Amino acid sequence: MNASYDEIVDALHHANRIVLLSHVRPDCDAIGSQLALALSLRELGKQAIAWNEDGLPESYRFLERSELIQKPPSEAQDFDIAIALDTATQPRLGTPLRAIRSVGQWINIDHHASNPGYGDLVHIDTTVPATGQIIYELLQSKNLPFGHAAAVALYAAISTDTGSFRYPRTSARTFEIASELVNLGVDAAAIAIKLYESYPKRRILLLGEILPRSRFDADDRVVSMAVTEEMKVRLRIQPDDLDGLIDTVRTIKSAIVAVFFEELSDGKVRLSMRSKDDRVDVNKICSEFGGGGHLRAAGARVRGTLDDVRNKILKRVCDEVTQSI
Ligand code: 5GP
Ligand code: MN
Repeated sequence: MNASYDEIVDALHHANRIVLLSHVRPDCDAIGSQLALALSLRELGKQAIAWNEDGLPESYRFLERSELIQKPPSEAQDFDIAIALDTATQPRLGTPLRAIRSVGQWINIDHHASNPGYGDLVHIDTTVPATGQIIYELLQSKNLPFGHAAAVALYAAISTDTGSFRYPRTSARTFEIASELVNLGVDAAAIAIKLYESYPKRRILLLGEILPRSRFDADDRVVSMAVTEEMKVRLRIQPDDLDGLIDTVRTIKSAIVAVFFEELSDGKVRLSMRSKDDRVDVNKICSEFGGGGHLRAAGARVRGTLDDVRNKILKRVCDEVTQSI
């Protein structure tokens, strides 16, 4: 049973020290949701702190007040409430978990189907395209403080997690919220440039190397790309430079599943998977390898060499596509 907005706001009103967390390698939905809720709680007079294992990615520095997102300190602290945002499993909150010595209550707000519902007050809505949409509804319906910086953060969260209002869970309500945020002063065109046309040159140079090495399987229905550790070191690639590269290969008509592989320095391979057809559930496939996500967008980290993991995963994806479609 989902906790109601009333229950969540009631708990927040009774708390003072509140820490807001989101998943490792945060995307804009994670950061934007954290930022908007933290700003609102600060306006209410709460000591609201926002931590992420990776700190604030360079690409989201343009968000007003984003300096509020910090890496966790080495010394653990006590909190009345900890809030996990946009994070399907608790371990994906990463190192900030070690910076929490004690906490009275855990709140879990998310939109991932694979979220098991950890925490004391849990609100998971898998029908919405972004956690930012839940945070918007929470702030607006309960008349919580909501300024320009929060509006920008939530617009960016929703824009990115809907693939610019293109993915299936984008609803009439999502467009209404976007409209309300624009009415609050959000400059949609300016944010689009910051989000989608402000990449560093090294991202294009990397794309130039990996695109010709794209792999096409199962009659071009499974398309994949891979980034090696060597490429990342040579081109000085930052983790957020890779966000969205998977979208390049999925644009071809024949593609049903796109997979992006990234060799990590810890002996694992990070993979991102996207499906263009509900009959192929990439959350199910990624869950088999210890990951998770949504029906059409999921990921995992798998131990092994890049070649071994790539072959193993692609075989599984090709089997699924061949059986399901
Ligand atoms: P992305 O491919 O953009 O990194 O992630 C797509 C979706 O899958 C996101 O909603 C993300 O939270 C989820 N996801 C990505 N990697 C993992 C993982 O290693 N474990 C789990 N549980 N979910 C993941
Ligand atoms: Mn999200």
